[in-house]
Amino acid sequence: MKPLAKRTARVSPSPTVRLGALVAEARARGEDIVSFSTGEPDFPTPAHIVDAAKRALDEGFTKYTNSMGIPELRLAVAAGAKKDNGIPASPADVMVTPTKHGVYCTCMALVDPGDEVLLPDPGWVSYEPMVRLAGGTPVPVAADESTGFRLTPEAVETAVTPRTKLVVLNSPSNPAGSVLSRQDIRGIAEVCADHDLYLLSDEIYEKLVYDAEHVSPACVAGMWERTVTVSGFSKTYAMTGWRLGWLLAEKRLLAEIAKIQEHTLTCCTAFAQKAGVVALTGPEEPLRSMVSEFRARRDLLLEGMRRLGWPCTVPQGAFYLFPRTPGPSADLAERLLREARVAVVPGSAFGAAGEGHLRLSFATSRERIAEGIERIARAL
Ligand code: PMP
Repeated sequence: MKPLAKRTARVSPSPTVRLGALVAEARARGEDIVSFSTGEPDFPTPAHIVDAAKRALDEGFTKYTNSMGIPELRLAVAAGAKKDNGIPASPADVMVTPTKHGVYCTCMALVDPGDEVLLPDPGWVSYEPMVRLAGGTPVPVAADESTGFRLTPEAVETAVTPRTKLVVLNSPSNPAGSVLSRQDIRGIAEVCADHDLYLLSDEIYEKLVYDAEHVSPACVAGMWERTVTVSGFSKTYAMTGWRLGWLLAEKRLLAEIAKIQEHTLTCCTAFAQKAGVVALTGPEEPLRSMVSEFRARRDLLLEGMRRLGWPCTVPQGAFYLFPRTPGPSADLAERLLREARVAVVPGSAFGAAGEGHLRLSFATSRERIAEGIERIARAL
């Protein structure tokens, strides 16, 4: 048979998706695994949001919507972006899209073969494959322990070449929970303006911050025209399975990005969009209590890292710890799964600079966190 496209040969399956499947299979066999590997809140989607989806279903809201999203959701997203993050977006600048798909559409619309894209290293596992699928060249830029896992303006400036097209920022970050300061953001924005670069700001963890301020680069003077901002419902409202999020960009950019969505996804699930409106305009209490629980778990897990003797930068956002651990991270992760029945993600999955670390998610109960630490301590 003829060979398949060369495109997919350039990327590997997602290591975190695969690990999630392995844990699910082990549990289905009846094994008791403590999982620090999940990238989703363990809380249920708040009831008022679920009810809104049920209502929409009962009312027959089950057909295609406008590819960009239903008007009331675009309105709510634009209003929230302006109020919370100072982004000068109007509803016409909003595309409702699953966040991951928004990142993909952006890569497909902005990146040509030969274009270089600067990515934080360590960084989320899917940026590099998406850049490769678009034909671009991913360029890892150190955002390692020496800077508290922050991408610095200096490191970005040093990595820029005449081929650089796009810079990707992710604050709060996966895998280390680092949060960029206003000064960091201003500095990186300046580099983008100086070298005429586009910026993709992935703000999926924007509402999960502890003792830190979330700053959107699109609010920096002169940046709106060159910035694509993605965020969504998955982490803020415990809605990972709803596949719902959004992308904000100035109309010239958005028109090109929208073509990719029109020819791939068409639109997000209709009744999920109705629930999204209620999530954005409804009570904030479920979010507040989730964040306060995450903070307590973070502190508990940090204390566990101290007990294990694993140095760990204190995360200011998201729900991940990224401690420094002995030996190759893939070997250690495998050993912990086999001998301690504890699932963690090897730091190497997030880039070369992630080697020597493990990612532990604290999106699991305090009892399971205590049990997991105990198991690791015993196995080691
Ligand atoms: N960006 C980052 C940094 C993430 O960690 C994730 C989810 N793991 C996504 C984007 C994708 O979010 P969603 O599942 O809502 O598409």
